[in-house]
Parts: sequence; C-alpha cells; structure tokens
Amino acid sequence: MKKQKANFRDQLSTLTAEGKRAWIYAKKPSGRYYIARNIVGFALLAFLFGAPFVKINGNPLLLINVLERKFSISGTIFHPQDVIIFGLAFLTGVLFVVLFTVAFGRLFCGWVCPQTVFMELIFRRIEYWIEGNYSKQKALDRMEWNAEKILKKTSKHLIFYAISFLIGNTFLSYLIGIEKLGEIITANPTEHLGGLTAMFVFSTAFYFVFAFFREQVCTIACPYGRLQSVLVDGNTMAVAYDHQRGEPRGKLNKTETERKLGDCIDCLQCVFVCPTGIDIRNGTQLECTNCTACIDACDEIMDKIEKPRGLIRYASENSIANKTKFKLTKRMIAYSVVLTVLFGLLSGLVFFNKDVKITVLRTPGQLYTKTETGKISNLYNMTVINKTTTEIPITLKLLSHEGEIRFVNDRIFLKPQGMSEGTFFIEISPDQLKSVSNKIVIGVFNGEKLITEVKSNFLAP
Ligand code: SF4
Ligand code: SF4
Repeated sequence: MKKQKANFRDQLSTLTAEGKRAWIYAKKPSGRYYIARNIVGFALLAFLFGAPFVKINGNPLLLINVLERKFSISGTIFHPQDVIIFGLAFLTGVLFVVLFTVAFGRLFCGWVCPQTVFMELIFRRIEYWIEGNYSKQKALDRMEWNAEKILKKTSKHLIFYAISFLIGNTFLSYLIGIEKLGEIITANPTEHLGGLTAMFVFSTAFYFVFAFFREQVCTIACPYGRLQSVLVDGNTMAVAYDHQRGEPRGKLNKTETERKLGDCIDCLQCVFVCPTGIDIRNGTQLECTNCTACIDACDEIMDKIEKPRGLIRYASENSIANKTKFKLTKRMIAYSVVLTVLFGLLSGLVFFNKDVKITVLRTPGQLYTKTETGKISNLYNMTVINKTTTEIPITLKLLSHEGEIRFVNDRIFLKPQGMSEGTFFIEISPDQLKSVSNKIVIGVFNGEKLITEVKSNFLAP
C-alpha cells in the first residue's frame, strides 16, 4: 500500500473539506459478483414481501407484534412468558453476529442487509434508468432547472416514494400482521388514525433513507458497521486489494514490452463504482460494505490487460501479506463450538415448546383449610396460555394423589392465542399427605388427551 493518500483516514469520503456532504455518484456495477448479488438480493426481496402472507398452522410465518407482546416465528406463537427462549435467542443472535463478523467481516452488509439490497438493487437501478450512469447524473445535478431536469427528478422521487410506501407497509405488516394492515387500508381512515400515521412515518423514513441519507446509514449510523473496528482482525476475510501484486501502481504504458510496475494500472475504476466513495487500495476501511462492486470493476480491467483476475478479491490482510490462503483461527473455532451448542439448545426449546402453557401457584397468604368431610384443602391461582389458533376446552386432574379439584367451572375454554385465569381448590385426604409440604402433579387434559403436566406444593397440618 505504498501510494495511499496519507490523509485518507482524516476525512470521510462523503464529506468535503468544508464539512459538507459530498454526494457519491457511483458508477453502475456489472460482473459476476453483481449478477450473484442480484440473485441473492431478489430472492431475499421475494421472501420479505411474501412472508407476511404465509401462514403455518394458521399463524404468521413471522410476526413481531411488540405492542401486543405477541410473536410468531415459523408459525409458533411466543409470549413474553417464554423469556428463556427470548434470552437464549438473543444470546445466540449476538454470538452469531460476533462470530460471523470475526470470520467474514461485513459480508452480511454487502449481500444480505436490506439497506444494501434496496439501495443498490432497487433504488440505484431506478436512478440509472431515469438519470443515466454516474457521469450523466453528475451533469444533471449541475444543470440549471429545465423541463428535462424537472421531469427526471420528479418521476424519480415519485417512484422512490411509491416503493418506500410499499416497504413501509411491509414493515408494518411484520409488526401488526397482514390482516390488521388490510383493515387499516380498507376501513374508514378516521377509524385508524394511529395506523395511518405509522404508515406515513415509516414510508417517509424509508424514502428519506434511500433518496438522501443513503451510504451514510452504513458509514455513520449503523451500529453493526461501527462494531467492525473491534471485531475484525488481520485474519478476517474482507474485500481487499492485493498490494503485493498491485504495487507500485502506475498507468499502463503500451509502448513498454515488459511492465516494470505492479498490476494496478491506476485506472480508478474500483473507486468510481464504490457506493461509499472510498479507495479500497488504501486498505481495509470502516466504510467498506463489502459490496464487491470494486472486485467486478477490477476483474474487468484485468481481463482487458490480460492479467489474472483477483487483484481485488475476498482475502484477509494476513493472507495477502504472507501470500497464504484464508484459514480458520482458534478464536473462530471456539466461537463456532459455543454457537453450535446454543443453536442446539434453542432448537430444543423451540421444538419442545408446548401449545398450552400453564402456571399454577398457591394463592398467596393462604395456608390450608379442613373441609366438612375432613379433607385438607388448598387454594390455587392458575394462568393458562393457548398458543394455537383453535379454542381448547381443558380439564384439570390430580395425577400424583387421589384427590379432587374443585373449580368454579370444571371446564375452562381457552380462547385461540389467548390467556385465561382461574382459581380452584384441591382437596386431599389427610392419610395421603406425608408432610407439611407435599409435592403434587396436576394434569391438563383436552378430553382424554393429556396436554401437559404442572407441579406445585400442597400444604397440610
Ligand atoms: S480497478 Fe484495479 S487496476 Fe484499476 S485502479 Fe483499481 S485496483 Fe488498480
Ligand atoms: S471498497 Fe469495494 S467492496 Fe467496499 S464498498 Fe467500495 S466498492 Fe464495495
């Protein structure tokens, strides 16, 4: 990296020397990585827009209803009571992000992040389509306002807002469900002022991000991007320039019979295509989203000058410096083992998660009473959650002792995806009770079918 600008770390590529925004006009990318990114990106978009319509066992494929504290993942309903699953899922998610970033840097940002997918594959494509490639866009912005400029800018921003509206609505459907979104759209607007406001706020926020804020999300705002500096090291794989091969850089001299300089011909194509405006030849930088546009641009140049592709490629800093291949480090292996264990635990918890969740607690402040028939009676409070989409009539039976459960209603109907509460007595003969505190097991039945069992304590004299 001999010829890098000494001050390139002193100033953001998106700021002028006066501290104003320097608008990035990225050249339209093309090449094998761009094609691959399109395939991955459009598959993800199909999932994103299609998933709200998909139901499994009558439940949404994915629902994150924070307001009503209801969550559905792969058709399984979770409530705040599933705190262990949420905690473990959060821990697994954090570790996955750490491991992934240690090994592969910002690979996620370039290929999967919705910001990149929407910006590079949708919004920028529309911009190229309406305003032309980067040099034409620059010329249009410098042009005085005339009919052509008004037409192009207006149509671009109208389309941008329409797509942002679609994204905003899709985002909302993951929060409140597609049915509720449908209600907001079709009902009288005065009945859903809150929902309509949310729709407008989301749409406008997305429009602002994709029309104006753009790469600033990745370079300034995104916390994941900021984390890079503490997670990546010399062994992390990233889009990197092979300075061993490229330097000393210099223009191509066609009169030379044998090139005495490195393979980089200083054509700046890698800089022109970069959506964050950086020069990857300066080394790994926080602003690089690993979008691979510079790999494609440089490969095209290498093909033209008949040099091997990969002057810019996926590689770690160490592998370039030592001319070795990418290898797993001990840190990556250790993280992978912990991650596998957490994934196993999480899958087990989700897999064995029951459709009916019941909590039974002795009523606080109550000890025991003696009934007229001489039995010992304890009072209990019960909370039952039905995670299914059907109503379930349940009955309770004492499994551990011979005894009676006396409910106000002996059959409780659990509303679909609802929560019910109740109070009941358990009565047991004193001859069955061995100590002051006795462990009891209660069975929860739907007809003759045992749904789940719950344990509690029974107090006796
Ligand atoms: S595209 Fe390749 S050859 Fe051209 S400046 Fe960038 S690294 Fe050098
Ligand atoms: S340096 Fe290359 S990979 Fe990184 S953001 Fe710019 S074009 Fe994309």
